[in-house]
This record gives sequence, C-alpha cells and structure tokens, in this order.
Amino acid sequence: RQTHQKPRNHKRLGIMGGTFDPIHYGHLVAAEMARNEFELERVIFIPTGAPPHKTGRKIASSEFRYDMVSLAIADNELFDLSRIEIDRIGPTYTVDTLHMMQEQYADYELYFITGADAFREIFTWRNPNEVLEITQFIGASRPGFDAFVFLNQLQQEHPEFYERMHFLEVPALAISSTDIRLRVRKEQSIRYLLPEPVRLFIKEKGLYHE
Ligand code: ATP
Ligand code: MG
Repeated sequence: RQTHQKPRNHKRLGIMGGTFDPIHYGHLVAAEMARNEFELERVIFIPTGAPPHKTGRKIASSEFRYDMVSLAIADNELFDLSRIEIDRIGPTYTVDTLHMMQEQYADYELYFITGADAFREIFTWRNPNEVLEITQFIGASRPGFDAFVFLNQLQQEHPEFYERMHFLEVPALAISSTDIRLRVRKEQSIRYLLPEPVRLFIKEKGLYHE
C-alpha cells in the first residue's frame, strides 16, 4: 500500500507513546524506521503517566522513565521528549494527549507510532474513532504479534480507518521491557538490549531488583 506516499502539503510529526519501563532498542528501531519511511520531521517520545492498561503492576517512577528516554535519545537530533503525559494528574488517555498535540502542532499531520501488539489493539482504546481522526497510525512489526488478520478485518469492516493505519516491516527485535525487568531481577545480562547509558542508569538506581 502506498497511501503514505500521496502528494501532501503538511509537515509530518511522529509520536511514540509508551511506558518505557525501561526504553529499549525495540522502541528506538520502530521510531527511527517510521521516521525514515514516512518522512517524519521529528519523533516525539511521550512516556505515560499512570497508564490505564497497566494499573496492576508497580512501575518505575515517571521521572526515572523520563530520564531513561532522555539518555536513550540524546544522540539523535530528530528525536524529542515530552512531559505532556507525566505532568498530567490522573490516568492519561492517548486521545487527550493527541488533542493537546494537535493544538500545539497545528501545522503538522500526526503519525502515532506503535508496535504490532498495540496497533492491533487500537479498538480497545478510549474513543478510537476520535483517535483515528486526529492521527494516522504506524504499526511496526514485532516478533510474536502478527497484524495480518487484524489488517484484513480492518480493510473489510472499516476501510476508512484502514487507510490511516499503516503496517511497517522493520528489522524485528524480540525485546520487551517485561523481559528486561525479569532479567534484572534474575541478575541476567541486559547488555545490548538497550542503550548503554540506560543500562548504567538502571544499575546506578537499582531499578527492577524486586
Ligand atoms: P512491556 O513489556 O512493559 O509492555 P514493551 O516492551 O511492550 O513493555 P511499551 O512501553 O509497552 O514497551 O511499548 C511502547 C510502544 O512500543 C508500543 O506501541 C509497543 O508496541 C512498541 N514496542 C515495544 N517493543 C517493541 C519491539 N520490540 N518492536 C516493535 N515495537 C515495540
Ligand atoms: Mg507493552
């Protein structure tokens, strides 16, 4: 599909939302390949505050997660970081964030970047129709999460959304924050799964030990 290559007069902004507990190379590769493929001017990483889907688990403090993203993207001038969700009080929903981004970046067309798992779950989000009116979606391939069935169904049932949801094959990385946290707890190596400054930060702060 070539929908993203239509002539256009809007600048494009990528948004990469996530818990980033911790950020790892899976996130960074997805963001970079999306930026490159869809000609996004920049990608803004938005760490979640209190994630509505993850209220069961104890997550690292917003400040630690923010600091880790900051360390991870420091060497890429096309990547940025926003406090928009972590500074908001109460549960944060992507739809609210997108409304604020839309206002702040009125000249831009927004592209929300996810992995294949989040991509195929879009209809479980709050106000998916509204979300898809504000932003296009890019779903990066992720091992273990096939998007083919989802995309087929979407094309049949919601052709208007199908046009705004783009699946992107990236060099797939079977890395997850869950696995990294488990490895730290078991005192296994996490080297090369995430940027070295992030690994050192986790060690220094003693994150994920219990
Ligand atoms: P957790 O295991 O805690 O859920 P995670 O590794 O899935 O962590 P999240 O912060 O939940 O990371 O993910 C943020 C976004 O990054 C989501 O859209 C997710 O699909 C995407 N993502 C995470 N890991 C990868 C990966 N290895 N490849 C592609 N996309 C990824
Ligand atoms: Mg996840």
